[in-house]
Amino acid sequence: MKETYLGVDVSHSSYEELSQQIFEDIRQNRKSMIVAINPEKILKAQEDPSLMTLLNKADYQIPDGVGVLLASRMNKGRIRKRITGIDMFLLLCEQASLYNKSVFLYGAKPGIAEQAKENMLKKYPNLKVSGVLDGYIKDEQYVIDTINEAKPDILFVALGSPGQENWILNHKDELDVNVFQGVGGTFDVMSGRIKRAPALIQKLGLEWFYRLILEPWRIKRQSRLPLFLYKVWQDIRRK
Ligand code: UDP
Repeated sequence: MKETYLGVDVSHSSYEELSQQIFEDIRQNRKSMIVAINPEKILKAQEDPSLMTLLNKADYQIPDGVGVLLASRMNKGRIRKRITGIDMFLLLCEQASLYNKSVFLYGAKPGIAEQAKENMLKKYPNLKVSGVLDGYIKDEQYVIDTINEAKPDILFVALGSPGQENWILNHKDELDVNVFQGVGGTFDVMSGRIKRAPALIQKLGLEWFYRLILEPWRIKRQSRLPLFLYKVWQDIRRK
């Protein structure tokens, strides 16, 4: 169920398939990790073999970013829809409230995860949020102990990339949690601090442009897309 771009695996499962597999992991008491893949991360992994290993160690690599869709088209692959980190987060929370599973929000600036929790509870009143912690606490043991006391089924980690993925891999085994997802700026959006693009802009695949206007410093990251596509094209020609 995966395609590989410049050495990095990307899943071509749908939201529904992924969510079914993830809740099966919880039922079977398996540990699994979800990581969002975009061209920027794939390019970084070219220069950083440990990042490549890290991304490929995840169980579910979701195609978050239009660049991955374009690469899949060029390669006659099957990835046609973005699976964004934030939508995956929302779906897992919705399903968790349905199946009576609990979630924990770890990361972002003080107060943000708490506000995100309040807003999630308005959306899904039955959601069990077993705890929240901000992402600037220095005492790692405190973070681990707090999460273990809360025993969530799903832990969302918002520390930015690849810090959050590293954090998950380093602490996975000592945490009493089944599913881990690195969610980047998701809590900032859910808290209302940052606005997500209107649905139409998202549908048109122009969310990157909207974010660029709100957060102009992203230009440096986004300008890597043509390079990514060129490298994928070269790679396809070589094969
Ligand atoms: N963050 C954090 N601790 C840190 C560094 C960052 O909690 O030490 C949070 C930051 O407040 C923000 C998120 O991580 O909420 C990073 O969001 P961004 O949109 O930059 O994620 P990316 O695009 O890197 O996945």
